[in-house]
Amino acid sequence: MRTVYVNGKYLPENEATVSVFDRGFLFADAVYEVTAVFDGRLVDFHGHMTRLRRSLSELQMELPASDAEILAIHRELVRVNNVTEGIVYTQVSRGSADRDFLFPDVGLTSTVVLFTQHKNLIDNPTGRRGLHVITVPDQRWRRCDIKTVQLLYSSLAKTRAKQQGADDVWMVLDGFVTEGSSNNAYIVNQDGTIVTRELSNDILHGITRHAVVRCARNLQMPLAERPFTVDEARSAREAFSTSATGLVSPVTSIDGVTIGDGKPGPVATRLRDIYLESSRANAI
Ligand code: PMP
Repeated sequence: MRTVYVNGKYLPENEATVSVFDRGFLFADAVYEVTAVFDGRLVDFHGHMTRLRRSLSELQMELPASDAEILAIHRELVRVNNVTEGIVYTQVSRGSADRDFLFPDVGLTSTVVLFTQHKNLIDNPTGRRGLHVITVPDQRWRRCDIKTVQLLYSSLAKTRAKQQGADDVWMVLDGFVTEGSSNNAYIVNQDGTIVTRELSNDILHGITRHAVVRCARNLQMPLAERPFTVDEARSAREAFSTSATGLVSPVTSIDGVTIGDGKPGPVATRLRDIYLESSRANAI
């Protein structure tokens, strides 16, 4: 049985509880992070902490713990649960109070929950064969830059994609792709330029995106941060997505239209290898 962390305690998963009045449960008033574990070490922990603190501050929420304390909890959970490859999930909610739309003025203690999951991230069949995605309207709230647990639309959309035989969705706002259900979206144009939407409130500022954009720039691969349309994506040479758990995942069809020759392309494959190598080397 897994050991999880709840508000200062390490507990067996079946003994860990959160109040029914928790605002994370009632209002999705909570933010989270997912940090990958390779070889028992944490990938880009500090990037995830920086984004967590930004999400908290955008929502006027507190985290009464230092980065060093949160790191120590991550490491302890990885150790006691023998995670060599997988994830650490961290969630912070505003805390529990009588149900009210207004944020309580005082006296609230945030709820802090962390747990681990074993997962094959590196040797992942969809990573090798490529993902089939379908496009759907982006009907999420318009602060997608804040990593809240308000994930119902993405969850519904991904489930519908699965029911239709696809792996994931790419969401579309005003004719332009924003991102995947839980990943950032990229194409490689016919002229070889990597295109991904620029940072704004319309997408999550992916930690993997940041690393992959830096890799591409270091390798002097042409890269443009701008919106792209679904038509542009369907006629691209390659497509791929990035996330902490999917790393760099090739996309081989969009709305049933084959991308390139239907196999993972050379740009996505190269970026996956380089990202994997550098994130492993820098994991802590
Ligand atoms: N966009 C969305 C909507 C996501 O949920 C995620 C995964 N958390 C990402 C992008 C990728 O972010 P990261 O690379 O930090 O995992």
